[in-house]
Amino acid sequence: MRFTQIPNVDNTWDNVTIKTLSPSTFSWVSRGCGYQVLLQKALNVFNDTSLSLPSNRNAILGTIIHKMYELTLKGELSSIADLKNKWEELVIVEKDKLSANYPTLRHASLNNYDKRNSAIRYALSMLKKTNKATVDSGTKKVYSEKRLDCSDIGLKGVADKLIVDNGCIDVVDFKSGHVKDESGIIKLEYSIQLHLYAEMCKHLSLGIPRSLMLIDIDGECFEIPYFPEYSHHLLSEVLETLQVLNNTVSSRSFSSCAKPELGMCLNCSCRHICKFRAIGSDSYYQTITGRVIELPSSNMYVLQSGDNTLFVSGLDAYEVDSYRDYLGKMLTFVNVARASQIADDYTYKITENTLVYEQL
Ligand code: SF4
Repeated sequence: MRFTQIPNVDNTWDNVTIKTLSPSTFSWVSRGCGYQVLLQKALNVFNDTSLSLPSNRNAILGTIIHKMYELTLKGELSSIADLKNKWEELVIVEKDKLSANYPTLRHASLNNYDKRNSAIRYALSMLKKTNKATVDSGTKKVYSEKRLDCSDIGLKGVADKLIVDNGCIDVVDFKSGHVKDESGIIKLEYSIQLHLYAEMCKHLSLGIPRSLMLIDIDGECFEIPYFPEYSHHLLSEVLETLQVLNNTVSSRSFSSCAKPELGMCLNCSCRHICKFRAIGSDSYYQTITGRVIELPSSNMYVLQSGDNTLFVSGLDAYEVDSYRDYLGKMLTFVNVARASQIADDYTYKITENTLVYEQL
């Protein structure tokens, strides 16, 4: 095997123009790190999914859960057996994708039966309601995974569920994590996302927004008050954000929008190519980059990173073709662990979740 090669994103910025944002990306730029959004757009230019880091396990399970709800709403899953079988099938599909895209990822364990059971419980309750709604009213339409393209106002996204009823729209978003923050308040980003979906529905003349609803993994519903003026106000913020992001690309002033904060960088989907990343030395998983200066054996690579010499062991876990070819190459190791959690040194070991990239 060879490590995945990543082209230098610094040579791609001329090809990056951001024309639209999804509601979730917009809310991330406002509260998170804009540089991550830019790096992701730069990676998208290469049209190769293996260049982006895999989503974390919860996010992948969230995708599976969304799919289950979508198929339930469409009537393609109608019993516990259907739901269980579909879950297993979707987990295998996701695991296969991980294995195909990330050759150094040895631990592609995804399943979580607590989440599966919660999802099945909610899908069954959804089934009862859908049947009732179909019987009760011929005017009600339920859409799942509805694509909304409002490129003319800078927005594009997929709404989890829309209920169109007599010209009114209820917007529903499924969340696989916690919907409330530490103080027990619904997270602002979710309110922003739902308000933007409502505005997109209005813009596309699908109906008049009536309610906004979040549903968590346990099927608990949280209604978010809908403020039409707020929705409308967010639109101007989306356009301003697009302008700021594109100006940042043109001026290459990336430090202005990067937010290297420990909590964010640790799980950032672009930390393998970010020059600003900040990962605490006390984190179990580390991301390191350096040029290979020595190869004492196929199992250990020695890298130079600034003034520091880094030692990475455990490479025999992979059958690397001609490992000596990596001498002089720049490598990034994502999810390596410190060899000793006590010693303050630069020795690391490969873990089952390690990803290795060669930076071109
Ligand atoms: S690693 Fe940190 S600074 Fe870099 S893009 Fe990600 S969140 Fe931003």
